[in-house]
Amino acid sequence: MNDTAHCLFCRIIRKEIPAKVVYDDATSLAFEDTNPQAPTHILVIPKKHLASLDEAATEDEPVLGHLQWVAAELARDRGIDKGGYRTVVNNGAGAGQSVFHLHLHLLGGRSFAWPPG
Ligand code: 5GP
Ligand code: ZN
Repeated sequence: MNDTAHCLFCRIIRKEIPAKVVYDDATSLAFEDTNPQAPTHILVIPKKHLASLDEAATEDEPVLGHLQWVAAELARDRGIDKGGYRTVVNNGAGAGQSVFHLHLHLLGGRSFAWPPG
């Protein structure tokens, strides 16, 4: 899906929809999830619209790494790095993806089970 006009997260990037932004740079944006699944639940997204991880091309490799780096920085800022945290990308509806603009979940502040549900 490349309909950026109607994409929820593209609309957040364009500030058409409000969000609690916690990080912003030329490549990425991070904001609080509205339905948090942990005391810290932040979404880190690329400013370039990619519907899913599956759409990422070789040229997008630096962006993918950047998202993980931003998550690690935010985890350190929030002090959740010591207790452990999780970064998750749901790829495709079968894996639980509901918003089709690539996003990394940063979850922390509680313990996590393995394997995930
Ligand atoms: P997914 O299920 O696609 O991996 O994750 C989508 C996430 O986006 C969910 O955790 C959901 O709570 C979050 N979400 C959905 N709509 C909004 C919104 O309008 N604003 C924010 N900040 N998060 C949203
Ligand atoms: Zn988008």
